[in-house]
Amino acid sequence: MAAAVQLPDPTRFAYLKPKDVARLAEAYRFSEAAHAGQTRQSGDPYISHPLAVAEILAEWHLDGQTLMAALLHDVTEDTSVTKDEISDTFGRPVAELVDGVSKLDRIEFQSAEDAQAENFRKMLLKLADRLHNMRTLGAVSPAKRRRVARETMEIYAPIANRLGLNPLYHELQELAFSHLYPGRYKVLSKATSAARGNRREMIGKTLDAIKRKLAESDIRAEVFGREKHVYSTYRKMIEKHLSFSEVHDIFGARVVVEDIPACYLALGSLHALYKPIPGKFKDYIAIPKANGYQSIHTDLIGPYGIPVEVQIRTGQMHRLAESGVASHWLYKDDTEKLSELQKQTHRWLQSLLEIQHQSGDPQEFLEHVKVDLFPDEVYVFTPKGRILSLPRGATAVDFAYAVHTDIGNRCVAAKINGELVALRTELRNGDRVEIITASHAKPNPGWLQYVRTAKARSNIRHFLKTMQYEESAGLGERLLEQALKALKSSLAEIDDANWDRVMRDSGSRTREELLADLGLGKRLAAVIAKTRRARVRA
Ligand code: MN
Repeated sequence: MAAAVQLPDPTRFAYLKPKDVARLAEAYRFSEAAHAGQTRQSGDPYISHPLAVAEILAEWHLDGQTLMAALLHDVTEDTSVTKDEISDTFGRPVAELVDGVSKLDRIEFQSAEDAQAENFRKMLLKLADRLHNMRTLGAVSPAKRRRVARETMEIYAPIANRLGLNPLYHELQELAFSHLYPGRYKVLSKATSAARGNRREMIGKTLDAIKRKLAESDIRAEVFGREKHVYSTYRKMIEKHLSFSEVHDIFGARVVVEDIPACYLALGSLHALYKPIPGKFKDYIAIPKANGYQSIHTDLIGPYGIPVEVQIRTGQMHRLAESGVASHWLYKDDTEKLSELQKQTHRWLQSLLEIQHQSGDPQEFLEHVKVDLFPDEVYVFTPKGRILSLPRGATAVDFAYAVHTDIGNRCVAAKINGELVALRTELRNGDRVEIITASHAKPNPGWLQYVRTAKARSNIRHFLKTMQYEESAGLGERLLEQALKALKSSLAEIDDANWDRVMRDSGSRTREELLADLGLGKRLAAVIAKTRRARVRA
């Protein structure tokens, strides 16, 4: 019997069935052979990269197929192995996953159902690929480093955030920041560890006081201190014009309790322990963030007047905050809440793809994605009480498109909290929005001036492009008729042979295209009319 193929570290994959581990080992050997002789910029054998990507995905407990695809993900692009060979050897789903990793703007979604788990797996595969490339970015040229780091900061980190993968989000941000601004990163991370050392005692005392107070109130809780991320410190300094010590003189604590009532009990007893800072309290349990994040946030005035930021949440909310929708794979407690979150996430991934489908231009697509991922959001309600989250500055038109494309295309007015308002009205947190539609209504080009969401913008553009073309062609036809009339002719007199000749001269592919060009003023009707006449006389 031939010796079984072994993975370099099989313990990482121990959560899989033995059958899947064996398949994985086969994929590993296949990939190793295909990449034989190739090295990474660092000088490491190429196989180290796909293996690392598979190990990242194994930390998230992804299924065997996704891990096989991870091992094989660069094979079709960098070696002579084809997609068909992968499909024959490892099955079609694995080949499809491999195919999807290449570029963000090349994910293909075949159908709505397909877009669900499938695209989520593809997205996680891409994110794991990006994470390992970021961890090893030091080896590439400075120019490439900057480009990849910027792309990570602008696209991949926000996607991780949107999917609720918090540790991944922060790691991508920290790595991207360290490559974009190496000097600032170095100074700030030094200062951060120095500050941590100086304040260890004070932090320990505060955490102990919190633990004691909760125990006195009979609340079972786990209490942790929170590490500050270098990049979020930097952002706060820039955005709020604060010095390092002003940002860093705030320390974070996290309280994890058993259930939701305990969250509010804990809140009450902590407010009795330290005075809360007015205006800093946020209840993301009652109104979760768009990515499903839930917690209570409150800022307290701690010992020596030092502010303490406290997050209070249940164990389940904590797992969701750590691994987002992926917690479905990590922890099989498939509750109502989780599946609602997954539905939301799938809807979001689906809308990304719709936008891609309509715009067709990768650059435009990425622009849209960036706008959509901008974290500032407002939460508003439909007349039936459903919560929708929209980017800050979104208007009633954005809301209409968020509800349904047809509602957007046919909206004529809006009511906010029962009052009739203009469509351009900006929405505010908690608004109840109702859209009034009319069957004959259509999108107005002026809306493009104030819509904020990618969905509204791309739908309006799409509609206008189609409309404009038809209207221009109609206008072109009238212009040509007039021009012909001036020459004592008419459209009816032009036969097919004549049309063909005129189109050949003008380089248009269809009559419609020629007429639309006339309507848009790209060509002059009189000139076209004369060409025809000259030819007829000739
Ligand atoms: Mn790769």
